[in-house]
Amino acid sequence: MAQPAIAYRVEFLDPGLHVYHVTMTVQSLDPGKHRLRLPVWTPGSYQVADFSGNLFGVIGEFQNQPLNLTQTAKNRWEFETSMRGEVRFRYQVYAYQEGVRQSHLDETHAYWNGAHLFFLLDEFTEVPHLIDIDGPPGWQVATGLDRVVDAPYRFLATNYDVLIDSPVEVGRQRMYHFEVEGKRHTLALWGEGNEDPGRLVEDVQKIVETARDFFGELPYQHYTFIFHLSDHGTGGLEHLNSTTCGMDRFSFRPQKSYRRVLSLIAHEFFHLWNVKRIHPDMLGPFDYDREVHTHLLWAMEGFTDYYAGIILRRSGLFSLQDYLDRLKDRIQAYEKLPGRFVQSLSQSSFETWTKFYKPGPDSPNRQISYYLKGELVGLLLDLEIRQRTHNQKSLDDVLRLLYERYGRKMVGFPESVYQETVEEVGQGSFEEFFQRYIESVDQLPLDAMLGAAGIEVRRRWKSAQDNDGGETSSEPLPWLGIDVKWAEQRYLEVGTSYADGPAANLISAKDRLIALNDYLLEKPEDLTKRLKTNHRPGDVVRIHLFRRGKLQHVSIVLAEAPYDAIEVKPIQDASEEARSMLAAWLGT
Ligand SMILES: [Zn+2]
Repeated sequence: MAQPAIAYRVEFLDPGLHVYHVTMTVQSLDPGKHRLRLPVWTPGSYQVADFSGNLFGVIGEFQNQPLNLTQTAKNRWEFETSMRGEVRFRYQVYAYQEGVRQSHLDETHAYWNGAHLFFLLDEFTEVPHLIDIDGPPGWQVATGLDRVVDAPYRFLATNYDVLIDSPVEVGRQRMYHFEVEGKRHTLALWGEGNEDPGRLVEDVQKIVETARDFFGELPYQHYTFIFHLSDHGTGGLEHLNSTTCGMDRFSFRPQKSYRRVLSLIAHEFFHLWNVKRIHPDMLGPFDYDREVHTHLLWAMEGFTDYYAGIILRRSGLFSLQDYLDRLKDRIQAYEKLPGRFVQSLSQSSFETWTKFYKPGPDSPNRQISYYLKGELVGLLLDLEIRQRTHNQKSLDDVLRLLYERYGRKMVGFPESVYQETVEEVGQGSFEEFFQRYIESVDQLPLDAMLGAAGIEVRRRWKSAQDNDGGETSSEPLPWLGIDVKWAEQRYLEVGTSYADGPAANLISAKDRLIALNDYLLEKPEDLTKRLKTNHRPGDVVRIHLFRRGKLQHVSIVLAEAPYDAIEVKPIQDASEEARSMLAAWLGT
């Protein structure tokens, strides 16, 4: 079978209608039956999203004559040709969803993920794919794809996977560049924000250099950071030699908020090794037709989060206390979730398509995030290896070895390789560690392991009298065991009712709370403030609520609240051994 040449043209004829016009041309296609497909998901985002829902007006041509195309499934079209020749498909894609994993087109820019726009031709995913971008004059392109020499709007992907793994930003975005090892790094910012471009470029460069030092090389010719600054939250998506990060436009100041921006960037950049190159064999090459399941997302996402913190510490962008504050937030978030004793990390990873990516009010009771627990288990595994090898080895060596053996060659590994590699580096069995903290739901020995590294965790509550002064107390606060939100700016609605809380059987998600001890709850803060200042654990309170429009009342014995003011600090009189472990780990 001859290899056809596949090319796409993307036109923005109707930015105001948010519609991309795509033409796909396949030259020299052999005669026979052929099949076109559109992915149902995009790598890194583990949800079936059925992108064909936004695709319309598909027509086919063979040698410039109409070609009969038959849709045979939600994302599949078939056709037959009688001789060798050129086939062409024209179709349109509606794209008006903002977000790093979405596609968007309006008068300010065009942004797409390839899985939304580009058909794949079965059996020809390994041939080069070419794109021509036909945008308004003056618009610039930012993408991880290679630009074809002397053609500013023509890009080449070595195969379909690379095409799908290279989102494209086109518009009048602000572009900044720096070089590391002679390789060009581009920052492309769409949307207004309060960033300091000089400082941002400098800090991103430090992240790149520190990660390069970790793995010893930069495995790409160029790298592109696409930043979307908007008013709806943060999140990123990793790619082979680019990333898109969505950020709150005003998050570059103050320092505390900027640290979260840097954490996101470090996380996504570290991914170019961990998950894009170091990954189990289910995660590439991809099956775009259905869910792919792996038990290892804790290592792909949780360990990437762990190393985001470590890279920021090693680069000097985080002080020791900045790092420990980040850790404190993680421990506090983790210890609040009853689901940590229900779902193992391995299950959390495997079930991400139906659980983590489809959260509901009861998720905290039944699930644990492989990001959150994965980061803490990464920390424990790192410290355990350091302790057993007297600081000669660490989790760093596990990742470097996996990169050396698999990542650099772009091949996936069987899942069992992970534990085997840890055991090789850690010089002994880690069976018990994997069984307890990854396959089961045992309590994590955070205090003991951190103690061995000269760090103590103090669990306290915010003082009941505290007026944002950060005062803490060893007096437990009273707790109703529910999260509430101020719905429609009118009433308190229950989100999660915690399975380990005193109201678990009495108050449910979506209940509208009306009164506490017969007094109206009329402001969002009324409930927590009154509980905190007037009650103690053990008190009985009466709650009036509406459930499905019917008034009810319940009496609840207040419990002790989970700790909400954890402190993580170096131990002043730590042993020599602990101090040297801390120095090897966090460089103090
Ligand atoms: Zn990630």
